[in-house]
Amino acid sequence: MHQDARYMDNDSVIDGDICIIGAGAAGISIALEWDNLPYKVILLEGGGLEYDDRVQELFRGKTTGQRYYPLKSSRLHFFGGTTGHWGGLCSIFEPSAFEKRDWISESGWPFPATELGPYYQRAHKRLELGEYSFEVDHWIGKNASLTPLPLNKEVFYNKIWRYCVPEAMKFGKKFRDNIIRSKNIQLFTYANVVNLETSDNAQKITEATIRNYAGKTHRVRAKYFVLACCAIQNSRILLSSTKQVTTGLGNENDLVGRYFMENIEIKSAELWLKEPDALQLYMRNAPNFKAELALTLQKQQELKILNGMLSFDPLDLARKIPPFIKSWTEEDPRENRKKMEKIYSNAGESRLSKMLHSNKHSSFEITMRLEQAPNSLSRITLDDIEKDELGMPRANLNWVFTSLEKKSARTLYNLLGRQMGIAGIGRVKIEEILLDETNSTMPSTTSGGWHHMGTTRMSDDPKKGVVNSDGRLHNIYNLYVAGSSCFPNGAAVNPTFSIVALSLRLSDHLKKTMQSETILDVVRVQAKR
Ligand SMILES: Cc1cc2nc3c(=O)[nH]c(=O)nc-3n(C[C@H](O)[C@H](O)[C@H](O)COP(=O)(O)OP(=O)(O)OC[C@H]3O[C@@H](n4cnc5c(N)ncnc54)[C@H](O)[C@@H]3O)c2cc1C
Repeated sequence: MHQDARYMDNDSVIDGDICIIGAGAAGISIALEWDNLPYKVILLEGGGLEYDDRVQELFRGKTTGQRYYPLKSSRLHFFGGTTGHWGGLCSIFEPSAFEKRDWISESGWPFPATELGPYYQRAHKRLELGEYSFEVDHWIGKNASLTPLPLNKEVFYNKIWRYCVPEAMKFGKKFRDNIIRSKNIQLFTYANVVNLETSDNAQKITEATIRNYAGKTHRVRAKYFVLACCAIQNSRILLSSTKQVTTGLGNENDLVGRYFMENIEIKSAELWLKEPDALQLYMRNAPNFKAELALTLQKQQELKILNGMLSFDPLDLARKIPPFIKSWTEEDPRENRKKMEKIYSNAGESRLSKMLHSNKHSSFEITMRLEQAPNSLSRITLDDIEKDELGMPRANLNWVFTSLEKKSARTLYNLLGRQMGIAGIGRVKIEEILLDETNSTMPSTTSGGWHHMGTTRMSDDPKKGVVNSDGRLHNIYNLYVAGSSCFPNGAAVNPTFSIVALSLRLSDHLKKTMQSETILDVVRVQAKR
């Protein structure tokens, strides 16, 4: 069922068992798990079924610190969320990302990598990624012409990436009918959550307030609430729900909004080969996979640096494509998308040609995707003055790094240069600013991957995290958070595959919780008889 909240009677009350706030990768993944179950699921989406600039405008905000994309255009605010714009590149997080690494402050997850294993398998199916394997030997075994670079395996290994096929990428298109036709899922569009109301003791969410630009306000009541609006909006909603707790919900320890992280993308080195090569394993291959070079945990530990991955693009092509931070500059996300498509088509590159090109080249641009160290100063705050059209304080981002990021980028490129030299393959040329140890400025190519992580980080210690290892707020028993805002650290891996996996895990947890409540209810009724 679908209802547009702009056309409902003002001050309507909506009741359900579970209320999922946000219909993007996380929210839709959870909702679909409840289809055809004997529970009433309310799915609240702030935008409509299609793009609406007046709703998108609610995401506008200021940025300080490291140069970032306009906040308005770094997420999409309508049904399907930012899956309307994502690139579909997927891989699993390294087991090392889950471990406490003593050279990275506040690293580690409250559970090991194995916990996500079965959920990755399910997420893989949902994203239609094909055959499940992240082992390089598996893919090389299928195509003898793919050869890994002969580098020291104690330093670099080959990490496999999969590409989501275009038909499976846009959740808003792919799952629209499933959601709308569902008998027990009720989708409300133009249902922007502007406040979460709690009981007097602030231990339970009693209702969510939704509002839209048609001037309608409604209330939603449910047993459980799941916040799935991505990192910036999740923290914005918690911080601005101040009626019962003046510092914001879950913010007793001043953690909400902090530890904002990105996958840092740097294009500041070139690989010059002795003999031209296609580096085919590292290009997009059929059926939709490629490899990147990744740093071993042993080497990270020895050098005390962050994790990073390296990918290669033919230099003649790469020189025609500016770093994302220099092209994704418009407030309107559609304009940025158009600009990117134009850049790629002017460069003579299409999705298909990239997938299939196998020409040999002498030189390649080396793109680094670096993990960001957890940093409490890198954060989302609410604007003191400016509010959006619905009366919510705007979100501001201060994106800042520790001293580890630049050191890690320099060391990683240097290490690749040394290994290429030892193997007699070629040389690596690194941008001057990166080599200068006295200069803390990052290279001008430094971008984010539009991967918003942190802000409601997960920890079993309430002093160190906003949510526990189930994704539940420590002090509010019926409020959960889904998505990458819960990541305590973000690895050097694009997040969406892990967002879907973690969302399925949360959904299973909620099912168990609801089922055990039902059993308890039955027991109570029988005891009364
Ligand atoms: C250009 C681009 C390329 C990308 N490429 C990749 C990639 O290759 N690989 C990868 O892993 N990731 C990629 N990403 C990131 C990916 O899009 C996100 O990780 C993913 O969409 C996050 O899912 P989510 O459900 O947490 O948030 P979203 O998909 O953003 O969904 C959040 C939903 O919540 C809704 N919402 C927000 N606020 C409210 C509110 N107050 N009330 C009600 N609803 C609300 C929004 O409208 C939206 O529908 C890319 C992103 C961009 C922009």
